[in-house]
Amino acid sequence: MISLPDDLRALLEEKLAEADQLAADVRTILRTSPAVVAAGRIAVTPSAPTETTDEEIEDFRRRSCVSKKSYSTPERAGSAAQTALALRNEKLRIYPCTICRGYHLTKVPLDVAAGRLPR
Ligand SMILES: [Zn+2]
Repeated sequence: MISLPDDLRALLEEKLAEADQLAADVRTILRTSPAVVAAGRIAVTPSAPTETTDEEIEDFRRRSCVSKKSYSTPERAGSAAQTALALRNEKLRIYPCTICRGYHLTKVPLDVAAGRLPR
C-alpha cells in the first residue's frame, strides 16, 4: 500500500466516488436511451442481457423506429419539430436512429430517457 498524504487520499476517494456515480449514470443511459437501445448497444451493459428480453427489445425497436416517421437529416427532423411546435405547441426532441440510420422525433424529455424522474 502506497502511503499518501491525507488531503491527496481524500481527493482520490472523492474522485473514485464521482467515477462510480458516473458509471452508474452511464449504465442507466445505456439501458434506457431509445437511441442507444435502438443501436443494439444494450448488450454492452453488464446487467441488461439478463434483465431485458428479446421481446422487450423488439417492442422498443418498434416504438422507437418502425412506428415513427424517419427523417434523412437532422435538419429535416428539426424543421418537422418546429412545425409541430408552431402548429400544435408540441415540444419534440430529435434523436438519431441506428436501425434506419435516420432521425426521429420523440416527446420523451432527455432526463426521462436517461432514467431520471422529471422535476
Ligand atoms: Zn429508425
